[in-house]
Amino acid sequence: MITLRGISKTYGKKKQRFQALKDINLEIPDGASVAIIGKSGSGKSTLMHVMSGLDRPQTGEVIVDGQDILKLNTKAVDRFRSEKMGFIFQAFFVQGNESSFHNVALPLEIAKVPRSKRKAMIIEALERVEMPEKVTEYARNLSGGQKQRLAIARAIVAKPSILFADEPTGNLDSATGERIEKLLFDLNKQQGVTLVIVTHDHDLASRCDIRVNIKDGVIQSVDTAKRPKAKGGKS
Ligand code: ADP
Ligand code: MG
Repeated sequence: MITLRGISKTYGKKKQRFQALKDINLEIPDGASVAIIGKSGSGKSTLMHVMSGLDRPQTGEVIVDGQDILKLNTKAVDRFRSEKMGFIFQAFFVQGNESSFHNVALPLEIAKVPRSKRKAMIIEALERVEMPEKVTEYARNLSGGQKQRLAIARAIVAKPSILFADEPTGNLDSATGERIEKLLFDLNKQQGVTLVIVTHDHDLASRCDIRVNIKDGVIQSVDTAKRPKAKGGKS
């Protein structure tokens, strides 16, 4: 469970001061799929960063699995994150000059998983994203969709209970994007991973259990109603 209480986040100082989040209260149950939706600049990424401890708000509480992460020092937050959370970003952020193997190994190094256990975990993660044959390939030689699958393998290798994805399909053509979406929802449904997706894609949002609408740093609505799937249409 992720609980946010009374979160406000400002960037900059004095005249540059800008309030990106205003009194955010939100609860995300374990195993839910959640879309954070809103226009560009509405505060979606900031909300995700605050939820995951990547960024600190000025006020409020962020409680993840019973732990108020704002009470932890930077090192402890990093450790907490590496054990519980995986991240996928629009721009992939894979290391082109490293093999798939070494890209996926990174979170295991951070989480201090013993070396003897790493190889099997890396292969398993690459199998999960259907590219075990790319294990020795340099990431720079992969297509965009393969890079994002590699990023997903890296995000799940340490078996996180929460996956954060910020516009994960924003840089992909729609067919490739669909494949990435399917992977994310399969992880949510089959392995019970809590999925938090930042998106401005309403089709993608409609597939989630919970839709959090944000505008100018304020939550406008939290919508949990299941949307009926249109017959014959893509969902
Ligand atoms: P979204 O992801 O919905 O596009 P963001 O959370 O990235 O929105 O940004 C929300 C607002 O906060 C925007 O107006 C943006 O310009 C501002 N902002 C985001 N990050 C910073 C930063 N590091 N410094 C100053 N302003 C920022
Ligand atoms: Mg954003």
